[in-house]
Amino acid sequence: MSLVLIHTDRFAEHQTPPGHPERPERAEVMDVVAARWRQRGVDAVEPNAASRDQLARVHDDAYLDLIEKTAGRAVKLDPDTYTSPESYEIALLAAGAAVDAVERVMNGRHRAAVALVRPPGHHAERDRAMGFCLYNNVAVAAAHARAGGVGRVAIVDYDVHHGNGTQHIFESDPSVLYVSTHQYPYYPGTGAADEVGYGAGRGFTVNLPLEVGAVDDDYRVVFDDVVLPVLREFTPELLIVSAGFDAHERDPLGGMRVTTPAFAAMTMALRAVAEECCRGRIVCVTEGGYDLHALAASIDAALETLSGHASEPRWPSSAIESLRGRTAAELARASLGPIWPLA
Ligand SMILES: [Zn+2]
Repeated sequence: MSLVLIHTDRFAEHQTPPGHPERPERAEVMDVVAARWRQRGVDAVEPNAASRDQLARVHDDAYLDLIEKTAGRAVKLDPDTYTSPESYEIALLAAGAAVDAVERVMNGRHRAAVALVRPPGHHAERDRAMGFCLYNNVAVAAAHARAGGVGRVAIVDYDVHHGNGTQHIFESDPSVLYVSTHQYPYYPGTGAADEVGYGAGRGFTVNLPLEVGAVDDDYRVVFDDVVLPVLREFTPELLIVSAGFDAHERDPLGGMRVTTPAFAAMTMALRAVAEECCRGRIVCVTEGGYDLHALAASIDAALETLSGHASEPRWPSSAIESLRGRTAAELARASLGPIWPLA
């Protein structure tokens, strides 16, 4: 089987305060999805914990010490980000799952690897926990690939939030391309189109800020006109996806209206680029997605796409009219507050 899932039911052990959207039930959804795919004959393996050396490629030592010291304790790290006594250990497994996913596809054992993890990672900065994220799982994975000799790694991030941490970690590095679609303006406030990277990395950060209310058709246009051509020009040797499903129309945090079939289409489009550029090597690592039904359905749709035969991406025809062309005043209504407005 050319697809592998990396997952453990231990991801539910990372507890957040009552009412927090990044809740253990998200892990239970992943357990159910993983069990179903295991029954269908897809390989599913337990992750290894990330090592200190693997984390230190993208995080500062002082920050690693700080997170290590939360072991056994419940700590508030930022207005949205909390640990429970288990979180340190579970966050190591989440980052380790992303590393294992890279190992699996780079050694040729599998073509595609999907790490079903929590906590998510893309807001975590080099020196700071943020937006539910402790370690930047995808950044740790990309750095692991680079350390293993992969020349060019592309990261595509379709989570509804901009992956500030991932962008900042690689913004002066031309060997790691970061491409993000996200609601804008919105949490975390970064991700404007003119943020394009620095120094040698200039041009290797591509931000595609989208208006609140964007529909499948908007994503199709952005993928066809920018994401896919940019990837083809970069010709990655490995494609990593920050697979957040909070742009889903049912998501309680995001303001987008993406449907489940559109997540399948995005995945198919990315798979096609991976097949063109890098022998199909694609690693998906989960990020956000806070409606449990939408999360289950979207992960399923992505797995269906990665496990089956390649085909043309089938974008759903949008029943809802696109909001492209809305006025700046309408755009400005989107908030720049915390990621968790209920708090
Ligand atoms: Zn998100």
